Amino acid sequence: MSDDQILFRPLKATEKLRSVMGQYYAELDEASSTKSRKIAWCTSQGPVELLRAMGFLVYFPENHGALLGTTRRAMDFIGLANAEGYSPDVCSYLTSDIGAFLAGKTPLKEAYGVSSVPVPDVLVYNNNQCRDVQEWFEFYSRRYGVPVLGIRTPRGVEKVGSDIIDSVAGQMEELADDLARIAGGPLDLNTFCRTIERSKQTSILWKSVLETASHRPSPITFIDACFHIGPAVTLRGTDLAVSHYQDLLEELEDRISKGTGAIFRERFRIYWEGMPIWGRLRFLADTMAKMQVSLVASTYGHSWVFDAFDPNDPFYSTAKAYTELFTVRNERSKESFLLEMLKRFQVDGIIFHNSKTCPNCTNSLYGMPKRLSDRAGIPYLVVDGDLNDLRCFSQEQTLTNLEAFVEMLAQ
Ligand code: SF4
Repeated sequence: MSDDQILFRPLKATEKLRSVMGQYYAELDEASSTKSRKIAWCTSQGPVELLRAMGFLVYFPENHGALLGTTRRAMDFIGLANAEGYSPDVCSYLTSDIGAFLAGKTPLKEAYGVSSVPVPDVLVYNNNQCRDVQEWFEFYSRRYGVPVLGIRTPRGVEKVGSDIIDSVAGQMEELADDLARIAGGPLDLNTFCRTIERSKQTSILWKSVLETASHRPSPITFIDACFHIGPAVTLRGTDLAVSHYQDLLEELEDRISKGTGAIFRERFRIYWEGMPIWGRLRFLADTMAKMQVSLVASTYGHSWVFDAFDPNDPFYSTAKAYTELFTVRNERSKESFLLEMLKRFQVDGIIFHNSKTCPNCTNSLYGMPKRLSDRAGIPYLVVDGDLNDLRCFSQEQTLTNLEAFVEMLAQ
């Protein structure tokens, strides 16, 4: 294929990513079948460092939900969860994952040669992102007969003050006591601090990866980030994640030095606000690249950047890291964050994804697009869709809307 036929340039690190995620799932599979290690399930912005430091291997149902989406298997299973009484209106990660459990199926086999999801010894959620994760974990607690433990984080706040962080840190200390009974021993503070140090390194590297998109042309797109976010979600606190992002960053810096963009020609730069539409990432990648539009940055990618980790203050800094999140904040704080992102990545427009089953990560419902557009002086588009439930998404309608939006940018 000649260079002018290339729409986007695949990253070499993507080949390695498959092996990294394969190692992660193989270790869980081995522990699940031999019972050699205890397994904790955790929400994606939960206190994974605490779990790892206490000797658990950690599995994230949300990553399984995303895999159900990207492999387009989600639609086979959502109906089964609906029949069990889980509404089509609730998180389609939850419904597709529970549906797959009810069907006894998983895409992990085709993806990584792993035949089943690992059986948990304990389920640990943090409702900093939404209520759905709590209900999701309660389902599995009933099914597997294992304890479910939770961190309750106040949401919709403007400032995350020390009163809130102290409360979350206190819950984490209580959680460590509860987990000690399941782990068979108390938390070793030194191991906890070392795990936090590796999470901090992971976060710094992941942030640096995302920040390369401030260059023109951008060496990475939101679509690349959707895949490479995997280790930041599932492997933070491990050397494997650190090494993956070191390699990825090196490749992106090489692209910058050569002036090589992630897409063949970057005419416009756009910010993606909201969840990915997992089953249509390829459509979005092709469509945008054909129109010479680079989706340079997203709120989603930056949701796994945790600035607060400090190994010298393990509980407080972990609580701070998982409470300062975008999803925890009120509209005013979110608006300030987004305004800063639009400037930093020098975007020409912003696309809001109105994800029908995730109002928690949808920010187009209370006037934000217009307010932000007025303040930043750039146009916006709202795309109706969903993370996994493709009944909520019309490809034809979206294509028409994207084409009209880019035409407007051109004018
Ligand atoms: S934040 Fe949204 S996508 Fe994530 S678990 Fe909650 S409802 Fe589902």
